[in-house]
Amino acid sequence: MPPAGIFEPNGRGPHWYRRRRGLRLGIMGLNIRFDNSYGRLPGRFFSRLSATPVAAPRLIALNRALARDLGLDPEQLAAPQGVAVLAGNSVPPGAEPLAQAYAGHQFGGWSPQLGDGRAILLGEIVTPEGARFDLQLKGAGPTPYSRMGDGRAWLGPVLREYIVSEAMHALGVPTTRALAAVATGEQVFRESALPGAVLTRVASSHIRVGTFQYFAARGDKEALEALCAHVIARHYPGAGGALELLEQAAARQAALVAHWMSIGFIHGVMNTDNAHIAGETIDYGPCAFMDGYDPARVFSSIDRGGRYAYGRQPQMAYWNMAQLASALVPLIGEDQEQAVAEASRAIEGFAPAFEAAWLARFRAKLGLSLPEEGDAALIGDLLDKMAQHGADFTNSFRGLSDDKADEPFLQSDAFAAWQDGWRARLAREPGGWDECEALMRRANPALIARNHRIEAAIAAAVAGDFSLFERLTAALAGPFEPAAQYDDLRAAPRPEEEISATFCGT
Ligand code: AMP
Ligand code: MG
Repeated sequence: MPPAGIFEPNGRGPHWYRRRRGLRLGIMGLNIRFDNSYGRLPGRFFSRLSATPVAAPRLIALNRALARDLGLDPEQLAAPQGVAVLAGNSVPPGAEPLAQAYAGHQFGGWSPQLGDGRAILLGEIVTPEGARFDLQLKGAGPTPYSRMGDGRAWLGPVLREYIVSEAMHALGVPTTRALAAVATGEQVFRESALPGAVLTRVASSHIRVGTFQYFAARGDKEALEALCAHVIARHYPGAGGALELLEQAAARQAALVAHWMSIGFIHGVMNTDNAHIAGETIDYGPCAFMDGYDPARVFSSIDRGGRYAYGRQPQMAYWNMAQLASALVPLIGEDQEQAVAEASRAIEGFAPAFEAAWLARFRAKLGLSLPEEGDAALIGDLLDKMAQHGADFTNSFRGLSDDKADEPFLQSDAFAAWQDGWRARLAREPGGWDECEALMRRANPALIARNHRIEAAIAAAVAGDFSLFERLTAALAGPFEPAAQYDDLRAAPRPEEEISATFCGT
């Protein structure tokens, strides 16, 4: 069969060459049709360089469904030539590898120069449906932005990102995806020697709030303008300019964080360099799903002040939007005072958008389809009681409509008292119990990527056994109606299984 694209009626001139090249690639190996719009931006946006080859690449995970959605052939990716590309050992034709420059506020402190310290953007592909995605290799070796880092990743964080980002996708949360993981056959040195790995990350782009900050801090208005135009064309086609971009970016962040909150997700490192401009979840470092509900919950071992605690995530997302607003001021108007006022106004919608999205998500978790005045109080009351009991977040909500969810809190007097009010409220729902139940089962996952399961899967993988990783990934692909064979994965950790911290030693 000829490789896709050869017989496309794509005109004359240089296309003839492209068709010929396509044919050659079809025979030689991986056929990816790249169209690298970021690489056409001014040179100061990035550094062009290839990944550093690794000793002995071995494919350890391939997301075949995602490959097909992207119009890629999973068999080609799994073949030695494909694995060489996923490891960074070979650059496929049409790729124009580069590392992106960006800056950012890390835990509130300003870092004027971050950038892809260990990631290489291979290029962008456009799916058969016309959607554009970055293909990025994470852990691909040092770049001009590596600072003191080695440019590498070890197997643990690579598997963690693979598991959690794919779980988030299955939960319906906007997120970067994981296409593949490759073991490098090399060691990475952290606290000890660990097996190295490269993750192939797929994202609608890798542009961050920190990308805007990078140019704003340099007073480079021309670059800001180019970036703004690029982002509008790519992510916000309806936006008329910087102000509308800001407004819409704030709305997407608000919706994203409300979604996180509704599934007990803690990002853990909401620095502006980890705030995706189009509202995707990005950079799965010390992230975690809560087991027991506690609004002050923090997992990241370096977040000592609790800056990115579960309950602070909306404020922090808003803080990040304020940084985006500052970066965009030069594009908003000549009169700085007025531009600042307009930028501030543009993000004022964040709080009401967050509240509305949060209420809608938590209403659905209680099976409520129509808004009523007292809903916020009803939800708040349940959450307070859950916090007092340290109730498992996922199993408590799931248990409202699923007998299999085993959660002691649901047997408590506190819950029984709350339940009377909830029942009275449900009685006013137009669709009856069946519809409420269906709504709840779509809003309350039975399965989340629990930390102790992730850690067990990583420990086994380090010892050479990927079966736990594979089982966990397969189960988390269907979190709302999982097969009975995955019932054991629903359980909250026993006290001795509980993982209280995640580490940034990625
Ligand atoms: P993160 O905390 O993962 O968002 O990373 C913050 C910054 O540090 C980014 O610029 C990363 O590219 C960079 N970085 C993280 N780990 C490494 C590493 N092992 N080598 C080089 N740069 C790194
Ligand atoms: Mg980052």
